[in-house]
Amino acid sequence: MLTDSFQRPVTYLRVSVTDRCDLRCVYCMAEDMTFLPKAEILSLEELEALCAAFVAAGVRKLRITGGEPLVRRGAIGLIGRLGGLLGHGLDELTLTTNGTQLARHAEALASAGVRRVNVSLDTLDAARFTRLTRWGRLDRVLDGVYAARQAGLAVKINTVALAGENEDEFDAMLEWCGREGFDLCLIETMPMGEIGEAGRMTQYLPLSLVRARLARRWTLDVSEYRTGGPARYVTVRETGRRLGFITPLTHNFCEDCNRVRLTVTGTLFMCLGQEDAADLRGPLRRGEDVRAAIDEAISRKPRGHDFVVGRRGLEGKVGRFMSVTGG
Ligand code: SAM
Ligand code: SF4
Repeated sequence: MLTDSFQRPVTYLRVSVTDRCDLRCVYCMAEDMTFLPKAEILSLEELEALCAAFVAAGVRKLRITGGEPLVRRGAIGLIGRLGGLLGHGLDELTLTTNGTQLARHAEALASAGVRRVNVSLDTLDAARFTRLTRWGRLDRVLDGVYAARQAGLAVKINTVALAGENEDEFDAMLEWCGREGFDLCLIETMPMGEIGEAGRMTQYLPLSLVRARLARRWTLDVSEYRTGGPARYVTVRETGRRLGFITPLTHNFCEDCNRVRLTVTGTLFMCLGQEDAADLRGPLRRGEDVRAAIDEAISRKPRGHDFVVGRRGLEGKVGRFMSVTGG
């Protein structure tokens, strides 16, 4: 069992299998991103070996993310092999995706043992979707979402709340999710990566405000449901579906954080909102004891992030993009 110095068990690993993406969501990436050279990134076999080492150390849940995980060639094969760990230490294998390639891969994901997928979707308006992602097509994502449902996967829609962008749509999205049988999770925008700070602050929308607005129309029953993540849930009485809130800025949830994040370069981030990290690629490639490197890293897991809405805007910023650490 991996336990940090604050006695928090670390049972959840999020693995970014690529820093690349076929979209450029305005809050996540700059338009002219420079991606990692091939030599820097772990092979699929190396990623698999590190995941297996974490599962052997006590990790029970893996989430595959990115960048966009499904744009990496061979990602489905990797997910299939990781599925082999289910029942052998691993309880759950999940995926976070932008959904653009999901129509093609939903069946294979289900066969690999994936039961739930998170699909990021910030709007149901086609023109707005294209603007927010800089060039994406909404219909492809919707095809992906429906294919996932068809394949038997439970779908959660992740929506970043953006002031002046999609804040007029949350009622409609809740209604759509209710009709289609999806849960919805709203996320506060976090100060990660250089996208121009003026933009970041004007995008910030506190979910406390969103929740109060939604409560005018919907009956939100507080739910004890937890997925082991930072989301706090209510059940929407009118639809029977769950609505989650991820509020890194208005409510800090670090005290029971159970997760760490592995990037595609084999760098382990012990906190999304801190710069401290451990290199696992070096020990892996040198044939050293990876477990010892993991233990040492976990012992350094910080108490929490420092994101805060301060007088000068969003503070506690980290320089790397969310797409590097893997959301
Ligand atoms: N490409 C996949 C996707 O979009 O789902 C997986 C990676 S993406 C980085 C994971 C999640 O992070 C997405 O739901 C995205 O909306 C969210 N995200 C990216 N940048 C963010 C930011 N600055 N603040 C809050 N959430 C962010
Ligand atoms: Fe790509 Fe996901 Fe970032 Fe959007 S949020 S740019 S889909 S990695």
